[in-house]
Amino acid sequence: MSPAFDAAQRVLRQVFGHADFRGPQADVITHVCEGGDAVVLMPTGGGKSLCYQVPALVRSGTGVVVSPLIALMQDQVQGLRERGVRAASLNSSLDLRQTMATERAFREGELDLLYVAPERLLTDRFMALLEAAPLALFAIDEAHCVSAWGHDFRPEYLQLSVLGERYPGVPRIALTATADALTRREIQERLGLGRAPEFVSSFDRPNITYHIEEREEGASGVRRRLLELLKQQMRGESAIVYCGSRAKVDDTAAWLKAAGMDALPYHAGLDNEIRRAHQTRFVAESGLVIVATIAFGMGIDKPGIRLVAHLDLPRSVEGYYQETGRAGRDGLPAMAWLSYGLSDVVQQRRFIDTSEADEAHKRLVGAKLESMLGLAEATGCRRAQLLSYFGQAWTGRNSLGQPDCGNCDNCLGPPATWDGTEAARKLLSTIARIQQAGGAGAAFGAGHVIDILRGRLTEKVKARGHERLSTFGIGSDIDERGWRAVLRHLVASGIVGIDHERYGVLIFTQTSLAVLRGERRLPMRPLPQSPSSRASGSRRSGLTTTSGRARRRRTGV
Ligand code: ADP
Ligand code: ZN
Repeated sequence: MSPAFDAAQRVLRQVFGHADFRGPQADVITHVCEGGDAVVLMPTGGGKSLCYQVPALVRSGTGVVVSPLIALMQDQVQGLRERGVRAASLNSSLDLRQTMATERAFREGELDLLYVAPERLLTDRFMALLEAAPLALFAIDEAHCVSAWGHDFRPEYLQLSVLGERYPGVPRIALTATADALTRREIQERLGLGRAPEFVSSFDRPNITYHIEEREEGASGVRRRLLELLKQQMRGESAIVYCGSRAKVDDTAAWLKAAGMDALPYHAGLDNEIRRAHQTRFVAESGLVIVATIAFGMGIDKPGIRLVAHLDLPRSVEGYYQETGRAGRDGLPAMAWLSYGLSDVVQQRRFIDTSEADEAHKRLVGAKLESMLGLAEATGCRRAQLLSYFGQAWTGRNSLGQPDCGNCDNCLGPPATWDGTEAARKLLSTIARIQQAGGAGAAFGAGHVIDILRGRLTEKVKARGHERLSTFGIGSDIDERGWRAVLRHLVASGIVGIDHERYGVLIFTQTSLAVLRGERRLPMRPLPQSPSSRASGSRRSGLTTTSGRARRRRTGV
């Protein structure tokens, strides 16, 4: 082994108390210690910090770390100081005296690591400081912030290319947990790291079991199921429950408390003190459930989180993976459980469509949601699909040659698939017939369209004469919940559009016609069974179950 590796390993053991490097850490660290640039892609919790902290200690001079989050910076600095590392940060939370003391220490070469916010780094004052100080390396944390298409875009990150231009001899290391191909390319191009090797660690979290369940509309069973899971999984350790809104956080926490759980709410609407107190308790104690919006979790590195539950559909696979990644940091079995329903999709679509953002951004956000839904609706291995989203192939196969991890709901109990093509055509032709019969402006939402399909003579149906449509009653073999599921699938896959300006009216899209003409098959998850059909154990008449072969084709194998 090289002298750089030996020195790095000594630091790892003596300063950080770890026996061995993990995944690509050894390679990255040796490479940077020897003066090379690097791009590091590791999932949250993968151990990115050591990739620059160790080289900063091995090399002479100070390691300058660009980091966008002040809270994270402070945590890191505190942790390092406890280990005897000379670390400091420069950010807006310091007063002038503290700032000057830190600047002086930096100039004198008395710091091992200096954390700085990007906007601070780019000031003339800091740039002048850089000229005077001995530099070990530059680390650019959360490097995906350079991506104008990403969810965390920071314009200042674009200017960080100046570091490579001014200090060609100082190694630069960019790190991120967001690793889709586009982001990777943007990091390399915009930070001038095109020639730097990429170090990618597996994004797989083998000890996390993924479960994604569809919720029936208005179902009250979700909370009870959550409670059951919490009791099953926690065993005295911890859990996080993510909700889509503050109100839902409050309600859910109160309900869990009433049910005997030690549950704490966390969201940006709570008083600062309370919020901080809840976070501190959650981090320090065992046996707590924190019920939170996605505002919670940045920098949380608690080992014994046994369950991460989502009660609403996350907005992107990145977000979902980051949040679920907080489970099982100790390597012991943990579960990620997501419950979602049609209302989640509709609400998020409305949110996107009515936002102020420009069209390109709306399309991007829409596409991210689409990918998340694709994952939720997948009938194949969740892990394989997640990893492929992050550009990593899953090689495990079952006897049929399909991706198989043995540790997600779909692998543990392969879902039957159901050929939803005919149902989709009935629904689409009903939308078309309503419009033909009524001319422009004749448009209705989900409830009315489903009433027509099911042949229900409601007041609204009678008033419009819709019982005379040829599709009236052709869908009576599927119940209301079943139709909602079919519709959700069609909305999720863009085959039916929803016009939010007109209160959720169902509309045709570019792909509607191909499906209506029968040019596209639509394997779906089996419909939620109503109690009566469950009793008979039958599959719905007129609708066939796709064969194993069709399933294999769909999963792309
Ligand atoms: P990331 O920044 O990638 O989310 P961190 O750098 O915060 O991850 O590391 C996550 C956890 O893994 C931390 O608790 C850290 O101490 C631990 N860790 C990192 N590298 C090692 C290692 N080589 N051996 C043992 N634990 C490690
Ligand atoms: Zn699987």
